[in-house]
Amino acid sequence: MTAQIIDGNALSKQLRTQVAARAQALKIRGITPGLAVVLVGDNPASQVYVRNKVKACEDSGLHSVMEKYESSMTESELLARVDALNNDPNIHGILVQLPLPSHINAQRVIEAISPSKDVDGFHIASAGALMTGMPGFWPCTPYGCMKMLESIGYNLRGKHAVVIGRSNIVGKPMALMLLQQNATVTICHSATPDLKAMTLQADVIVAAVGKRNVLTADMVKPGAVVLDVGMNRDNEGKLCGDVDFEGVKKVASHITPVPGGVGPMTITMLLVNTLEAAERASN
Ligand code: NAP
Repeated sequence: MTAQIIDGNALSKQLRTQVAARAQALKIRGITPGLAVVLVGDNPASQVYVRNKVKACEDSGLHSVMEKYESSMTESELLARVDALNNDPNIHGILVQLPLPSHINAQRVIEAISPSKDVDGFHIASAGALMTGMPGFWPCTPYGCMKMLESIGYNLRGKHAVVIGRSNIVGKPMALMLLQQNATVTICHSATPDLKAMTLQADVIVAAVGKRNVLTADMVKPGAVVLDVGMNRDNEGKLCGDVDFEGVKKVASHITPVPGGVGPMTITMLLVNTLEAAERASN
């Protein structure tokens, strides 16, 4: 068997076309969906992420503002900026790029974002909404994974999903989203004694660890769907995921590549959340 590739770039293109059409419909009503991206410091990876997010907004007809500050910015100065953006009617989504310099309490900054503008879905109110099945913003990466499953018409009811990783931004929300769609969910982490014994039972595996080759072909049940969230560098410095792609694609029914899989979907879901925030604000 050779797995079908779930192409994150192609799906993103399709979803971004829908975002652009919905943004246009709002514009006719005098509202331009707006995202503010706040970057503190000069982390090179963060600068690339932020630029990509701003560009994606522009390409889809969303208004975006990028605020860039020196790493010497104080926490209270940053909180004051978040407050100003909370009160700016032209801004519907606020994203503070992480990581923040160590003298700033990132959680305090996230909690300062109005939940109605929390398009990253990291606010405790957003986490609570996901946990209880109430409306709120879902974190973009696991939300993108759910869209990828939807794109292949996958019905999660009665299926066993294994999530590897339990971070607040990927693993835990991923597990809750899968649970909401009636999967039976197992969450694995660094203290899981026998990862292979878990993954071999899975119909769906989501790898969100940040280590190469965490998932190899011998750990995958034939026909399983494998989503690779990981972003790592191989020995040649090339971007790769957590999954041994070449091996696992011979066993899985569907697989996401890295690059070109979950990565582009994350930015796409940020656009979807921003648009959704603008639509909610307009009603
Ligand atoms: P994280 O906060 O470092 O969490 C990693 C998780 O993996 C932890 O829960 C950890 O367990 C678990 N883990 C570590 N070693 C393990 C092992 N050998 N077996 C099983 N579990 C193990 O990372 P994250 O923020 O969730 O991100 C995970 C990966 O996804 C990273 O590569 C990141 O760059 C990538 N990512 C990609 C996107 C995208 O858009 N494509 C977005 C976000 C993140 P403990 O909790 O026990 O420590």
